[in-house]
Amino acid sequence: SGCLKVKEAMLSGIERMGLSQEIKVVVTGCMGPCHLGPMVLVYPEGVLYTKVTPEGAAKIVEKHLYMGEVVEELVAREHDGRLAPTLRENPFFAKQVKIALRNTGLIDPMSIEEYIAVDGYKALTKVLSEMKPEEVIDVIKKSGLRGRGGAGFSTGLKWSFTARAKGYPKYVLCNADEGDPGAFMDRSVLEGDPHSVIEAMAIAGFAVGANQGYVYVRAEYPLAVERLGHAISQAREWGLLGKNILGTGFDFDLDIKVGAGAFVCGEETALIASVEGKRGEPRPKPPFPANEGYLGKPTLINNVETYANICPIILNGAEWFASYGTSNNTGTKVFALAGKINNTGLVEVPMGTSLGDIIYDIGGGIPGGKKFKAAQTGGPSGGCIPREYLNTPVDYETLKELGTIMGSGGLIVVDEDTCMVDFAKFFLQFVQDESCGKCAPCRLGTKRMLEILERITRGEGREGDIERLIDTGNIIKETALCGLGQTAPNPVLSTIRYFRDEYEAHIKYKK
Ligand code: SF4
Repeated sequence: SGCLKVKEAMLSGIERMGLSQEIKVVVTGCMGPCHLGPMVLVYPEGVLYTKVTPEGAAKIVEKHLYMGEVVEELVAREHDGRLAPTLRENPFFAKQVKIALRNTGLIDPMSIEEYIAVDGYKALTKVLSEMKPEEVIDVIKKSGLRGRGGAGFSTGLKWSFTARAKGYPKYVLCNADEGDPGAFMDRSVLEGDPHSVIEAMAIAGFAVGANQGYVYVRAEYPLAVERLGHAISQAREWGLLGKNILGTGFDFDLDIKVGAGAFVCGEETALIASVEGKRGEPRPKPPFPANEGYLGKPTLINNVETYANICPIILNGAEWFASYGTSNNTGTKVFALAGKINNTGLVEVPMGTSLGDIIYDIGGGIPGGKKFKAAQTGGPSGGCIPREYLNTPVDYETLKELGTIMGSGGLIVVDEDTCMVDFAKFFLQFVQDESCGKCAPCRLGTKRMLEILERITRGEGREGDIERLIDTGNIIKETALCGLGQTAPNPVLSTIRYFRDEYEAHIKYKK
């Protein structure tokens, strides 16, 4: 979006004004609000400039950095037009609590020194010098952290299964496949704060007894791959990865495996097959990866956002983490706001924040004064939440009751003009394309559902088509081999549940 040109303009302006000794320009990862970029944040005042062009950057240097005056026309504004000069005053940031994204947009991701300056590698040092593996697992269990990749399983429990599993060597994997359309939180963490994942994986390795880890990143994330690779090299140079870390006798190293962009490789057994160099296809469970994972050995898999929460939990304690969110849904969750919403981008809020707060207070509502119609959570594996549930607290259990899932945190908003049948068809088409074809319910069932949806939207729908969609969807859910198939019908079933009249209207009013 032009950030690099803004950086060049800042640097040349600073040189021109003779400020090179006093002012440092730091390039960070994403700060979150896509709709406000490129952004410039001036410290120590914390003044936030938005939608900055190279000309605007020159103005910031001359007026703010040289003369000490805030450039009003570039300062972020609230929706009623009032100035919101600092980050915290901006409504997009005011209700956010940043744990996983604590450093993203704050530090230079290419600099290990900057990561260390914000307590980086302090958690690993604490773990290796003061804690036993079972104590680490105990803290993670007590924190209540649940896997942020979608299923919401207890992270501490998962770690304990791998720690207890018989077999050696053991492995630690990071799922950075992030295939949901509209979700980009894992990419943002890897691009903006790669050391946080490296440090957490080393801690996980110590806790479960593994000496080797792999980060599985999709090939469509070249910047994340580059920054992660750079960070791994730096960590090795600093003795924070490799043999005898910090002189403690603990060995742990990391490598990157680049995936080819198959959605199904986000499923853990398919991911493991792909890391092994095989075709990325799921297999039945059990055995679970904790007992038989990579190369048939005990393997721990967590996703990027889950790992991004580990170091603050170790440093601040389980109770601190559990003080955010609700009793069974502790901590925060990152959401990627997309679709018909004014403020698009990444937001991190305490678990249990209401959908309405996320969409209106942080997201700024719907563009053009249009009415909110529904929000899709969980991407193609999830479902939609209609207007009457805007007060719903967003947590794993409540979303499940509503017929959707948390998923990895994609949150796509649609307004009154959206046809929900078309909307469901988009997601079904996606999973149909991405079905690996290994099992019949998913391979054939999603195809049949898509055919029905296509004829309904062509105006050729038949009586009984809605029931056929429901029946086929339920059979796929019950009989598909992996999570992709088991959740594939969700967008169709949930739109039928809440917007059945739109399906009926399509079928009734034929072309
Ligand atoms: Fe493949 Fe779909 Fe079966 Fe999963 S459910 S194994 S993606 S065909």
